[in-house]
Amino acid sequence: MKILVTGGCGYIGSHTVVDLLNDGLEVVIVDNLVNSKRDVLEKIKKITGKCVTFYEYDLCDMEKLDSIFKKESISAVIHFAGLKAVGESVSIPLKYYQNNLTGTINLLLCMQKYNVKKIIFSSSATVYGNPKTLPIKEDFPLSTTNPYGTTKLMIETILKDLYQSDNSFDIAILRYFNPIGAHKSGLLGEDPNGIPNNLMPYIVKVATGKLPVLNIFGADYKTVDGTGVRDYIHVLDLSYGHMLALKNKKTGLKIYNLGTGKGTSVLELVTMFETVNKVKINKKIVGRREGDIDACYASCSLAERELGFKCRYTLEDMCLDSYNYVKNNN
Ligand code: NAD
Ligand code: UDP
Repeated sequence: MKILVTGGCGYIGSHTVVDLLNDGLEVVIVDNLVNSKRDVLEKIKKITGKCVTFYEYDLCDMEKLDSIFKKESISAVIHFAGLKAVGESVSIPLKYYQNNLTGTINLLLCMQKYNVKKIIFSSSATVYGNPKTLPIKEDFPLSTTNPYGTTKLMIETILKDLYQSDNSFDIAILRYFNPIGAHKSGLLGEDPNGIPNNLMPYIVKVATGKLPVLNIFGADYKTVDGTGVRDYIHVLDLSYGHMLALKNKKTGLKIYNLGTGKGTSVLELVTMFETVNKVKINKKIVGRREGDIDACYASCSLAERELGFKCRYTLEDMCLDSYNYVKNNN
């Protein structure tokens, strides 16, 4: 069985490719490397001892994308490719709509043309907006506060409309909570260039001395210690969720939260990071970041019931592995 992984050189995609290869599946990656590096392919080979077929194409280039479907006998698609920086999406919304929507529509048109009917799509907890109650269940109302989130919600709508028109499609929409952590080998992980937007990459940059201080965005939220609460999930557990979705025998259009079901505050995460890695994180409390919500964590009971999804890694693992990756790659 040959799986097309879009964005397979990226953070979550690369971990999933390792799991697919270790499971004996063939993998074709399409990635334009806009937010990743080619050397990920070597690292995947080092970990698995196996090669993938790689196309450095943009999903927005329909002709090139079509040529992949023509050449390879694809059985299913895992669709990670997309731009994902919330702040950037506010500054350059059209780029986000063009890249994320055009890329996805091209992909779905190719799937339709070549009769490939199974797709797993990377959505996000951002589609829940500011939830009224917690934990968040899949049937909660949806809304977004930035163009990035809107692209996710629009793609979900496109997938629902596609399924409505042709219910031989088999679609899994996976709404990720906050992926952190890295591969145990220290070869794959996340280390964005410049100043990171997300909390864990920022903590790691402070730990490695690349940034002087962690700004904690608000300590007056209605949470356990006033700092924002999120549901951090190890990227290896997230990847495992994709394997389960791929093998799920129940067909149709399915939507699953992928999180741990546990909320962790900014201060709790920083303290855990300091304890397990024996480093001090210089930090200061600053004002709230615009658009942030108090707290967000998943109800994972649907994924547990229907996919058998259960997280295997703890917050300690996430902190150790995130730091280990960056120490190994600097
Ligand atoms: P990433 O940026 O590391 O990986 C995305 C990959 O897609 C990159 O390698 C990039 O080069 C590629 N890409 C982007 N646009 C492309 C295009 N037009 N054609 C071909 N390749 C293209 O991001 P990630 O963290 O691995 O996220 C994967 C997916 O999960 C994204 O769709 C993201 O929006 C979604 N998601 C991520 C998070 C998170 O916190 N990391 C949370 C929720 C959802
Ligand atoms: N956060 C912070 N400082 C940072 C980055 C993030 O205090 O430099 C906080 C943010 O306000 C939120 C939590 O950390 O409460 C997680 O933020 P992240 O951007 O990683 O995820 P998201 O807000 O998109 O869920």
